[in-house]
Amino acid sequence: MPKASCVYHPGRDAAAFCDGCGAPVCADCVSVRVSYFSRVAQKLCNACIAKSDAKAAAILIGAFVPFVLVSSLAWAFFFLSPLLGWLYLFSTPLFFGALALRYYRRRVEKIKAKAG
Ligand SMILES: [Zn+2]
Ligand SMILES: [Zn+2]
Repeated sequence: MPKASCVYHPGRDAAAFCDGCGAPVCADCVSVRVSYFSRVAQKLCNACIAKSDAKAAAILIGAFVPFVLVSSLAWAFFFLSPLLGWLYLFSTPLFFGALALRYYRRRVEKIKAKAG
């Protein structure tokens, strides 16, 4: 057991160190979280739990908003004409693919420029 007191409860012995910020925390203040992406279990303090929840929410919204936009536009096009709808549905991945490709090429160019 680490000999330090909890950052939230001065006087109480720390039970662990937070894997997020390294702060010593008591048993009441530490929670074990399993990362959704890496499947790694982490001991986190309350502040880091709140931070990771906010990050997860931001990722979810970041994925949800474009999804709603794309799907509602698809419905609008299908409503106008099935041909337009299908054209739109097929062109959307192409559009985002081209965008991703451009972004990737720019990054490669930047790295090349840095390398000399
Ligand atoms: Zn922390
Ligand atoms: Zn505590």
